[in-house]
Amino acid sequence: MTIRVRFAPSPTGRIHIGNARTAILNWLFARKAGGEFILRFDDTDRARSRAEFADGISEDLAWLGIAPDIVQHQSKRFALYDAAAEQLKDGGRLYACYETPDELERKRKRQLARGKPPVYDRAGLNLSDEDRAKLEAEGRTPHWRFKLSARAVVFDDLVRGEQSFDLTSVSDPVLIRGDGSYLYTLPSVVDDMDMGVSHVIRGEDHVTNAAVQVDLFEALGGTAPAFAHHSLLTGADGKGLSKRLGSLSIEALRAAGLEAMAVVSHAALVGTSDAIVPHHDMGGLIDSFDLGKLSRAPARFDEAELANLNARLLHETPYSEIAGRLAALGCDAGEAFWLVARQNISKLADISQWHEVTYGEIDPVIAADDLAFVTGAVDALPDGAFDETTWKTWTSAVKESSGRKGKALFMPLRLALTGLDHGPELARLLPLIGRDRAIERLTTGSG
Ligand code: GLU
Repeated sequence: MTIRVRFAPSPTGRIHIGNARTAILNWLFARKAGGEFILRFDDTDRARSRAEFADGISEDLAWLGIAPDIVQHQSKRFALYDAAAEQLKDGGRLYACYETPDELERKRKRQLARGKPPVYDRAGLNLSDEDRAKLEAEGRTPHWRFKLSARAVVFDDLVRGEQSFDLTSVSDPVLIRGDGSYLYTLPSVVDDMDMGVSHVIRGEDHVTNAAVQVDLFEALGGTAPAFAHHSLLTGADGKGLSKRLGSLSIEALRAAGLEAMAVVSHAALVGTSDAIVPHHDMGGLIDSFDLGKLSRAPARFDEAELANLNARLLHETPYSEIAGRLAALGCDAGEAFWLVARQNISKLADISQWHEVTYGEIDPVIAADDLAFVTGAVDALPDGAFDETTWKTWTSAVKESSGRKGKALFMPLRLALTGLDHGPELARLLPLIGRDRAIERLTTGSG
């Protein structure tokens, strides 16, 4: 069997970290199985779908490292949905209903008042041609419901285990609205069949839809794909992400300067039995991917944890992997600089500060009380080119001559050399600053 999955966003906005997680899980699953990943835009809602959102979602996925094997737009596939609707009508499985929302609401209330479940009474199914003609003469246009089978649907969810739903306890779903537009269900099932989707991996908010969809697959003469419904992401506070979608959009996380692989690592590993550790490429994530590792409990997305993961990823990034991006930032000063400065950044853009501190113009900070000490330290600088032993040799000599030790010894030198009270290891930074700049900085206060 060809393994084929799909990520099916509605292009009515950009994707957020929760949607991206669904895309990443699908992607890893497909890559691990040697299968295909389809990006399917669910854009049948013509009023709300926009081409720029679809383009934006493609860009977001590309940034994350996901290159779809196939891209489809539902808006180009109406002929298939129309044909499926006709097939269902011919088979008596799609029937016209004429109730207004108010009438439906009144029915619901009456059922509840009588202690009955508010399941649609299938009144539409019993209308004669004459009844229908009369209702249409009143100016009503039909919406169309799918007649569910009277049975329990049982399927083995690859995350949640065996799921069983009694279809008699739910209303026949509306597949086509009064204005002729399709709701999500029919186009989704038709496409999953037509595109040979083998596995539907998506959020658990769709798990009840799955039972209805299984019935629809079978009504159309197909068989349902395998399902895996993963738990949804919540914020660190345990609440749904929906209210903070803006700041958690992939576009915003990218603009905030996070590494794509930090976002991917977090999204792929959160809510699984694997530890959340930074991955530099998809390889390791693909190898260790297993739907069975996904927990059924809600997965917590913690921005602080992502920030931390981002920093850890950068701290481990070898020079060869980052040189091009350093050059683009005007901060490529070779491997030694990267290896010492990377420990002090949490986002790549922070590197420019250390580049400036090392090679640029800084304002040395020398307190009046330290002036004589700092100026005196210049005389103790060892001869010859600076290397990683210079700092030790130099500060030992300064300690000896000044009698200072600990912070009183090191901090004034750091403040004079970098203008800051914190930063990368001076033993490794000093050779990069070099003799001339070091002397210039140490003597600024003495002129
Ligand atoms: N467009 C649907 C959504 O974004 C797709 C659901 C599915 O994967 O079937 O929720």
